[in-house]
Amino acid sequence: MGFGLSDSSLLRPQAFINGEWVDAKSGAEYPIINPANGEVISHVADVGQFEAKNAIEAAQTSMELWKLKSPTDRSNVLQRWHDLIIANAGDLASILTLEQGKPLAEAKGEILYGASYLKWFAEEAKRIYGDILPSAQDRRSLVIKQPVGVVAAITPWNFPNAMIARKVAPALAAGCTVVLKPAPETPLSALALAELAVRAGVPAGVFNVLPCLKAEEVGGVFTASPIVKKLTFTGSTPVGKLLLRQCADTVKRTSMELGGNAPVIIFNDADIDLAVAGALASKFRNAGQTCICANRLLVQEGIYDRFLAKFTEAIQAFCLGDGFDAKTTLGPVITEKALNGIGSLVKGALGQGARLVTGGKPVESDGWFYEPTVLADVQADMDIFSEEIFGPVAPVIKFKTDTDAIAMANDTSFGLASYIYTQDISRIWQVSEALEYGMVGVNETAISSELIPFGGVKESGHGREGSKYGLDDYLETKYICMGGLNA
Ligand code: ADP
Repeated sequence: MGFGLSDSSLLRPQAFINGEWVDAKSGAEYPIINPANGEVISHVADVGQFEAKNAIEAAQTSMELWKLKSPTDRSNVLQRWHDLIIANAGDLASILTLEQGKPLAEAKGEILYGASYLKWFAEEAKRIYGDILPSAQDRRSLVIKQPVGVVAAITPWNFPNAMIARKVAPALAAGCTVVLKPAPETPLSALALAELAVRAGVPAGVFNVLPCLKAEEVGGVFTASPIVKKLTFTGSTPVGKLLLRQCADTVKRTSMELGGNAPVIIFNDADIDLAVAGALASKFRNAGQTCICANRLLVQEGIYDRFLAKFTEAIQAFCLGDGFDAKTTLGPVITEKALNGIGSLVKGALGQGARLVTGGKPVESDGWFYEPTVLADVQADMDIFSEEIFGPVAPVIKFKTDTDAIAMANDTSFGLASYIYTQDISRIWQVSEALEYGMVGVNETAISSELIPFGGVKESGHGREGSKYGLDDYLETKYICMGGLNA
C-alpha cells in the first residue's frame, strides 16, 4: 500500500542495523495501527535481544571511524540529512499522521521542528571547544571534549520524529553513534528517518533502529551493555526510574526527559485573549499528548468566570477527525487504552466534585477520539490535579493569591514546563524564579525550539535537549596536565 506517498520507499517494514534492512531473526513481526480508524497500516519486524546486541556492536565498530571524521565532515552529513528531511517533509508528515493520528498540518510542523535540530547540531558540530586553564609555571592544564561513546536512545510515540532528531543530531555531532528503540506504536517515522540517513551518507552502524514490541527486552540489553556509555530516554517517569536503576550497574551517563504536570497560571492582570489562545494551543496540541502541555489551568478569582467562558467558547471551534481531513484540528489519542485512561480520570474528577463544562466522553467511532473537555472547580486533592492527563481535557482551578498559585503549581513531583500570564514585571520575575520547573513560558506557551535548552527538574528528569547546552549531554570533559615544562 502506497498511502499516496510520492516516495513509497520511505515506508520501511524492517529493522535497520549496521546499514542493512533486516527482519527479526525469530521471523516475528507486529501490526502498526492507524489510531484514527483502527486499521492495520503495515507489519513491522519485531526484534529482540539478538538484534539489539548486533546493533550495539555495529555502533561500537562504526564509532572508531565516525569520531575521527573532521567536525566539518560530520557537519556536512547532518546538513545533508536535514536537507533530505525537508525535501521529503510531505511524505514524512503523512507517515507520521498515519501511525500517530495528529492532524497533517501539525505533523508537517513536527517534521520541520525535528529537522531544525539536525541543522542546529550540524552547525554546533564545528563549535565543540576545549579550554586552556590557568596553571603553575611548570605545566599547562588543558580541557578537551570527547564523545561519550555509544548512545542508546529510547523514544515515545507522541513526537515520533522530533524526539528522535533531538537526540540523534547532538549525539552524531559530538562523534557518538546511536542505537535507537522507537516506541512500538510509531516505528515507521523512525525507519523513514533511517532511510534518509542512508541517502545522506550516514555511515553504516552510526544510526541503528530497532522496532520491537517487547521494550523491556531491548531496553534490558541497552542498559546491561558495558559498550553503551549513555542512555537517553524520553517517556514516562516510572519507566525512566526503572531505566535509571538498570543503568546503575554500569554507571552510565543518562538524560531523562520524563513526565510533566504543567501549570498555566493566569493572573487577574493577564491579557485574557492572549491567555485563552496560549492555554488552548498548549492544552490541545497533539490532542493533549505532549509532556509540556497544560495539565492544570490555575486562574485567579477575579478573572476566573470570564476566562472560563472565553476558553469554553473557543473550544467549540475544534474539529475532531482523521488527521488527513483538511478540516481536522484535533486528532485521536494513540490507543484504546489511552482513551479509557482519560475517561476514568474524568469520571474520577466528576465523582470528586469537579464540574463538567463541556465534553466529557469518548466519541462513537472506529478510532480513539475523546471530546475536548473542560472541567471547572477542580481542587488540589483530586487525582486529576496530580496525574499527567495526556488527553484533550482541561482542568480549571481557582486561586486567590500569588503565594497560593505558586504553592499549588509546585505541589507536584514533576517539574518540566510551566506558564504564567501577567502584565506585571515584578510578578513575572518573582513567580518565574519561584516555580520549580526547568522551563517557564511568560505570556507564551509555544516555548520549544532547537535554540533553547529543553528539560526538566525533580521527577521530570535531567539533561537538556537543544541549544548550546544540548551537546554537553553527549560529551565528556577530559583534563590533560602537560607537566615538566621547566625541566
Ligand atoms: P507511554 O506510556 O507514554 O507509552 P512509556 O514510558 O511507557 O510511555 O514509553 C516510552 C518509551 O519507553 C517507549 O519507546 C516504550 O516502548 C519504552 N519502554 C517502556 N517500558 C520500557 C522498559 N521496561 N524498558 C525499556 N523501554 C521501555
